[in-house]
Amino acid sequence: MEGPCITGTENGVGSQLLQIEAVRPPKTYKASRFNAHTIAADGTLVLYNSFTGHRCGIPPQWAETATRYLSQVGMAGPLDKVGEYLRKKGYIVEENIDENARHDVRYSRYQFRTDMLELILLPSEECNFRCVYCSQEFKRDNMLPEVREGVRNLVLQRISKLKGLNISWFGGEPMLGYEDVIADLAPFFKEITAKHDVHYFSSMTTNGYLVTPERAAKMLEWGIRHYQITVDGTAGDHDQHRPLADGGPTFQVIMDNLIGLKNNPESFKVTVRVNFDKTNVRRFGALFQQLRESLQGDSRFEMDFHPVGKWGGPNDDDLEICGFKEVGRLHKELRQEARSHGLGTMKVSQMLEPDPGSVCYAARPYNFIIGTDGKLMKCTQVLDTLDSNVVGRICRDGELEIESDLLNGWVQPYYHTDVMCNKCFFVPVCQGAVCPLVRVRDNVRPCPPYKTEIASTLLDLWEEESRSVPRPSSVETVPLAPVESACEADVMSQATT
Ligand code: SF4
Ligand code: SF4
Repeated sequence: MEGPCITGTENGVGSQLLQIEAVRPPKTYKASRFNAHTIAADGTLVLYNSFTGHRCGIPPQWAETATRYLSQVGMAGPLDKVGEYLRKKGYIVEENIDENARHDVRYSRYQFRTDMLELILLPSEECNFRCVYCSQEFKRDNMLPEVREGVRNLVLQRISKLKGLNISWFGGEPMLGYEDVIADLAPFFKEITAKHDVHYFSSMTTNGYLVTPERAAKMLEWGIRHYQITVDGTAGDHDQHRPLADGGPTFQVIMDNLIGLKNNPESFKVTVRVNFDKTNVRRFGALFQQLRESLQGDSRFEMDFHPVGKWGGPNDDDLEICGFKEVGRLHKELRQEARSHGLGTMKVSQMLEPDPGSVCYAARPYNFIIGTDGKLMKCTQVLDTLDSNVVGRICRDGELEIESDLLNGWVQPYYHTDVMCNKCFFVPVCQGAVCPLVRVRDNVRPCPPYKTEIASTLLDLWEEESRSVPRPSSVETVPLAPVESACEADVMSQATT
């Protein structure tokens, strides 16, 4: 590259042109505004960047150097090896980089994409269980035929423009609609996505009672490959928490069905969800033992723990829920105990990945719950018990009649208008929309506890990741993330308790 030219007129240089080598000033760097860090017991500096999703442990001998780079003062180059590593992984950036703009652009690209359709279908709004903490009202039975036709037509209309179709079966208890709805629509989704080369992901949140080995085999054939099934302890606790509608026990049938799934050679994932409160939390050892014997280290199964919350059901006043601080500690202990029994657990890292990150599906404009009567809704926790959650309806021809202002209430970029979110290091993951319900209904900022307790989250993460080599590790953003039907309502209800 040519340097600047000057004309010399003094000291006899006359009009001779001199070419002077360009000397670039050293670049200056600043710490990324999306960093968080803490120190592990052995002096390792545990680092995380919420924009890249990268996390790593800097060994104690380099921790001091790294800390200097990460100070807010900034630093002029050239970079040494530690600095170069931090730059490559996004922990330091050039002084002139506008990181907020970077985040805004990525957010817009993902949030307003039109090549994705996510549907949460309710085959039935009835349930064969009556769980003590449930808030649903069981107002309707199976999905009406004209609504099923509308769903088909919607997918037919959109399929040529889609890259991904995400179908999540939810309820009530979705398996009550197995014959009429799931067996009708699931093979259609599988076939049409294969024909148009569209990525297809399908999951189900079910109590597991009706997931017999025969039905599981059929559903796996139809591409429903991720299941969330809840077990709240061994028979004594579980049957008290999650009885049949007539009060009968459910534990043994669910365990038999889990074993049935285990014996199926197909690839799938089952999240065994455990809801804990003060009544059952001290007795999970026996459950872990039983699951270990039944599942025999099958890595397709993993445990996930959620605190029971006051979710709006008729028994809310009688529930013995755990307090906010207690939940964090118990959550960690339960995960450790499950692992010590050889069971897999949901990874901390999953909560820290950017885009779509921790953002609730209700905040995505291309995600709709379709009720049995054709209502379009956003939040699975309140369904049609909250007027502002019903944002429109699906017509028989597949058209979506949407009330834009109601929809905007759920999908708007809250982090733009919320000063705290705007400044928050966690915004690429949370986007201020971990639980839009808390915003829409309660006008409260929904900071998730794993962000407010970030130091402890990072230590858990380090413990989890230091068991796997090589490190430092990095994360790849998965463009087609599953629509997990588990929501943050439990966490948020604890946070506001
Ligand atoms: S996270 Fe919040 S908005 Fe999302 S489904 Fe759960 S309660 Fe509803
Ligand atoms: S809701 Fe809380 S954690 Fe999320 S971006 Fe806003 S301030 Fe950060």
